Amino acid sequence: MMKIRVAVIGCGAAGLCALRHLTARPELFDAVGFEQLNNVGGTWNYTDKIGTYDNGIPVQSSMYKNLRTNLPKEVMAFPDYPFPSNLPSFVSHEVVLKYLENYCEHFNLQQYIKLETRIDKVEPIEGENQTEWKVTSTCDGTTECNKFDSVIVCNGHYAVPLLPEIPGMDKFTGTIVHSHNYRVPEEFKDQVVICLGAGSSGQDICLDIATSAKQVILSHNNTPLVTPLPSNVSQKPGISELTADSVVYKDNTVEKIDVLLLCTGYKYDFPFLDDVCKVGIMDERVTPLYKHIIHAKYPSLSFIGICKQICPFPQFQNQVQFVLSMLDKSQSLPSYEAMLVDIDRDFNERLGRGLPTRYAHHMGMAQWDYNDAIAHLGGFQTIPKVWKAMYAQVSARRKENLITYKKRQYDIVDNVLFKEKLDV
Ligand code: FAD
Repeated sequence: MMKIRVAVIGCGAAGLCALRHLTARPELFDAVGFEQLNNVGGTWNYTDKIGTYDNGIPVQSSMYKNLRTNLPKEVMAFPDYPFPSNLPSFVSHEVVLKYLENYCEHFNLQQYIKLETRIDKVEPIEGENQTEWKVTSTCDGTTECNKFDSVIVCNGHYAVPLLPEIPGMDKFTGTIVHSHNYRVPEEFKDQVVICLGAGSSGQDICLDIATSAKQVILSHNNTPLVTPLPSNVSQKPGISELTADSVVYKDNTVEKIDVLLLCTGYKYDFPFLDDVCKVGIMDERVTPLYKHIIHAKYPSLSFIGICKQICPFPQFQNQVQFVLSMLDKSQSLPSYEAMLVDIDRDFNERLGRGLPTRYAHHMGMAQWDYNDAIAHLGGFQTIPKVWKAMYAQVSARRKENLITYKKRQYDIVDNVLFKEKLDV
């Protein structure tokens, strides 16, 4: 029997997970992972650099030096590969990178990975019975084209900053920096810094900067956080305008600032997908993806890791198993038309709840039903229920106290219940 040739683009957590499951079935799949960096692990490869690496590739990592995970390792891990038990629940980025490197080694994935190999182009070659994929890559100045039966896109979505347009931005003479380029709090010693945006990055970074800055203002359009905050951190509404040295908030108050730190998120970007692939990105909605994974028109083109506000690694594992269940034909996809109906239903349901288009792939607590649904469709075991319960508990702890929630230690017992204790 001919093996199914699969290209995996990117070897961060998502790509490694895809390779781990593909290469476990060597009789069926012939997999190659392409990674433009010189290491696996993607965004967890912290670097002091901003802009580009020495070889001219844009810096992929959005990690800052003091980052500790915002999920405990107990629900962050791939369900089939726990973090070492002797570590605290909230670990540093170095620990996560080591974990991913160990995962790669444990499942012997290195032999399938081409490092320092960048994918330049992916094009469908439509045949009578099936679509093949022409994949063009460059390594060390040499370009190569290879054919595959399937392409799994795992290129991440935390590398290209989403920049807001604020009136007066061009007149502001202070520093404007995106969180992608934030590294250490000492850069902002004794300065007045606005962190614009109160998503996970905005909340976490404002605490880190507060250790060095004179004053930090968390500016956002949500209802104010009710958590205790350090004495030099305050909250303000969003920004309506900038002047040469000040900011005008939406409540019309004005404040002199030194730095505007944009914690305004990231853009999906698939520069290597040829236009014929017909992947649309509109206001951070990627289409046409059935269950946020499978291209409805070209089902042999799939995407791992599109969803936001999730436990990424466990969900990647479910998404990968879902893709494999379609590739090995143990399950079948609905018709093209039925997939489009499902995509619209999911999107319209979100709009109906008052969410904007850019929330098309946001999950939060809904991730657990979604994970169960794709496991059901793919015919495999889903994530134990205790993960959901622990995730809910940690989210609640974070809401009630942003400063102390990482001081807790968690433990999952027999995959059915979790324990929580105040650590240090
Ligand atoms: P990435 O890690 O971005 O990997 C994508 C890979 O694709 C990269 O190695 C890149 O070089 C490669 N690539 C891209 N384009 C090409 C190309 N053309 N050719 C070849 N290779 C290519 N998650 C958690 O679970 N817990 C946390 O606490 C947490 N904190 C986070 C904090 C920050 C600041 C950020 C940015 C993210 C955080 N995340 C956290 C989410 C994190 O992004 C995911 O956990 C996960 O690592 C994403 O993996 P990925 O493989 O999808 O993407």
